[in-house]
Amino acid sequence: MAKLKIGKLVVIGTGLIGGSFALALKEAGAVVRVLGLGRSQVNLRRALELKIIDAPGALDAATFGDADLVLLAVPVGQMQGVMRAIAPFLGPKTIVTDAGSTKQDVVALARRELKGSLSRFVPGHPIAGTEKSGARAAFAALYRERKGVLTPLKGTDAEALSRVRSAWESCGAKVFELAPGEHDAVLAGVSHLPHVLAFALVDQVARHKDASRRFAYAAGGFRDFTRIASSSPEMWRDICLANRKALLAELGRYRGELGRVERMLERGDARALEALFSGAREA
Ligand code: NAD
Repeated sequence: MAKLKIGKLVVIGTGLIGGSFALALKEAGAVVRVLGLGRSQVNLRRALELKIIDAPGALDAATFGDADLVLLAVPVGQMQGVMRAIAPFLGPKTIVTDAGSTKQDVVALARRELKGSLSRFVPGHPIAGTEKSGARAAFAALYRERKGVLTPLKGTDAEALSRVRSAWESCGAKVFELAPGEHDAVLAGVSHLPHVLAFALVDQVARHKDASRRFAYAAGGFRDFTRIASSSPEMWRDICLANRKALLAELGRYRGELGRVERMLERGDARALEALFSGAREA
């Protein structure tokens, strides 16, 4: 397979995910020039200083008309506005992809907003991240050996799909394809639910009248369980709302599981508790 070369990449949202994509492609020698757009001028300047982008872009034909690839790496609640703003400027060959953590909502928005460019839109989600945000958090190795999911549509152009796949592979990711609904159901269980649990647990401790002493005595276990509660509140608000049906189903299942544990504790059922813990450790 010929090595991927992207002449011009435009990254909208030069934070952890967009910034790391640009850095990884640069490190792989897979991109010539990277332009960036963002909501915060401070962050955009930082992206320039850190050589994540080569120049700032603008919402105009000069930025998008001859772009080979555009990555949308903004919170999913921002996708519609961004798609609407760029749609008139996308060139006839420009491929658009996104990194949003939910896929059914982003796909529905793309159908509404991307008009003539829809067939060159390849929905995606890198299954990699950290709890940090912004350009300063970006690093080239973020996607190495991690999974990347693409959720192409029936009418997605084969060449566009293949180029986006190659781009993620150039970042070091292993790329898989799922249907948008499958993606959202799976991620609700193993990503969205754990984030909600971490946020909720920290909130519960913080509201306790003895909160400062409780935090003072919290050690490794608490830290491991709650590290992700320092993730971006905006990003997680948007993900939870976008995937709320699947998330509510997972929360219901989890509540059922907690009920089982509660009943074991009420009965003082050592055998059942140990069996549950052993099963979980094994899994
Ligand atoms: P981030 O906060 O680090 O970066 C997002 C950037 O988008 C910020 O720089 C912000 O200024 C910019 N932005 C916000 N609204 C904008 C707008 N309307 N126009 C232009 N720029 C705008 O967040 P991130 O972690 O890089 O997440 C980006 C996307 O990737 C989100 O959709 C998120 O769900 C997804 N994602 C995140 C992770 C993760 O672990 N952080 C993993 C996979 C996918």
